[in-house]
Amino acid sequence: MRIYIEGLDHERFDRPMGNIANLFFEECEVSRKPVGDEDLHIAFKVEVDEMVKVRAVLSDRSGNSEEASYEKELEGWSTEKEYFRQLIKAVSRVYLMVLQDYTGITQKWGILTGVRPTKLLHRHVQKGTPLAEAHRQLKEEYLITDEKIELMQKIVDRQLAVIPDLYELKKEVSIYIGIPFCPTKCAYCTFPAYAINGRQGSVDSFLGGLHYEMREVGKWLKENGIKITTVYYGGGTPTSITAEEMDMLYEEMYESFPDVKDIREITVEAGRPDTITPEKLEVLKKWNIDRISINPQSYIQETLKAIGRHHTVEETIDKFHLARGMGMNNINMDLIIGLPGEEVPEFQHTLDETEKLMPESLTVHTLSFKRASEMTRNKQRYKVADRDEIVRMMDLAEEWTEKHDYAPYYLYRQKNILGNLENVGYALKNQESLYNIMIMEEQQTIIGLGCGASSKFVHPVTGTISQLANPKDPKSYNDSFKHYTEEKIKILEDLFSREQA
Ligand code: SF4
Repeated sequence: MRIYIEGLDHERFDRPMGNIANLFFEECEVSRKPVGDEDLHIAFKVEVDEMVKVRAVLSDRSGNSEEASYEKELEGWSTEKEYFRQLIKAVSRVYLMVLQDYTGITQKWGILTGVRPTKLLHRHVQKGTPLAEAHRQLKEEYLITDEKIELMQKIVDRQLAVIPDLYELKKEVSIYIGIPFCPTKCAYCTFPAYAINGRQGSVDSFLGGLHYEMREVGKWLKENGIKITTVYYGGGTPTSITAEEMDMLYEEMYESFPDVKDIREITVEAGRPDTITPEKLEVLKKWNIDRISINPQSYIQETLKAIGRHHTVEETIDKFHLARGMGMNNINMDLIIGLPGEEVPEFQHTLDETEKLMPESLTVHTLSFKRASEMTRNKQRYKVADRDEIVRMMDLAEEWTEKHDYAPYYLYRQKNILGNLENVGYALKNQESLYNIMIMEEQQTIIGLGCGASSKFVHPVTGTISQLANPKDPKSYNDSFKHYTEEKIKILEDLFSREQA
């Protein structure tokens, strides 16, 4: 699909116009210059005085046309960026309206293409906007549907129920630890995940670097009296290393981090069932790791094979029972909607199997075609369900979770997500993952240690966010972990000392 957009004369419009077009069409090209053989022509007229007035006329090659308009009072602005933000919002709104009318597709998230919609509602809650007014504004400014506003509200309520001091946690930090190894690489994966077999040398040096980072950052936190709210071991698959290696890592955590017994939650993403052994579960128990994830993704064997997850459905079930039997009482399971070859009956089967296990929490992802994954590179090899079918599966997940007393407690969206839907974390009462809430709502600094771990620094007073990512591959990590540790500590110094000043 090629779209020619006329009448918007600033490059600041390019990204939002491209992102919104992608909600409607796959493989879409949007240009502000005539392309000659465009499929759609959209002519804008934008007038600005005390009001922003936008009108758009869409026409296609067959002579079909749609038009829409919108006007809104221009609010005060002090920078060019703020001025354009208002213009872009108004233009996006009209653009979405003509595209919705033309395609007959309603975008339930309106013009929002960002990852964290619930942040918008938190902002209103923090400002003290009455809820009805907050909802009205979300609907008016972004064209978000009532259904999604209701979902956002449920999530925000849940989050504040489990972390009542969510807005006061800026003076603490959470820690993410990335272990970049997996037994094999899955086809949809873009995480730093290297097949572990035959790489013991590389694992050893990586762990050496990681222990160093944990020690140095832990020392800094202790010296500065900064508490840790949550710790999350992700990756890769953090249980792909040996039980001894895990034991030493958690021992390091207890020695280096401040007041580990007061940390509200420690999660280890066991992820791939084929990495879980009784010895490793013993180690997790020994160090009081409260929460693990065992991820089936699907309970259809052919699907697991097609996506390169080399474990069996039985293995998922067996490892779940093993973990349960050994005392793990907070287990999360990840499911993916829209895996190749799967439609409603397959997903229903996955839910039926989930019902037999009843994990404490369930994260339902919608497949996204991430640019760097094998699946995207060879898209024609993977047959996936169409938009309507994806929506039906999502509805099924919603109904099923509600019926089984799981409540939604976090959500995020991705680019190129099938059906423009979202990933939603559901949990039984009081079994929500606190780390997932912290990472989604960006209320505090999360320090990333290990491979591919991204640190997100949230200023304790202003809330401004900056990021620093560790290298993704173990070799570059091994060459530079000291440098990255120093950089992080410098940023932390600056962040927390400025706050005290
Ligand atoms: S197990 Fe997870 S991290 Fe590892 S390759 Fe598969 S999707 Fe990626």
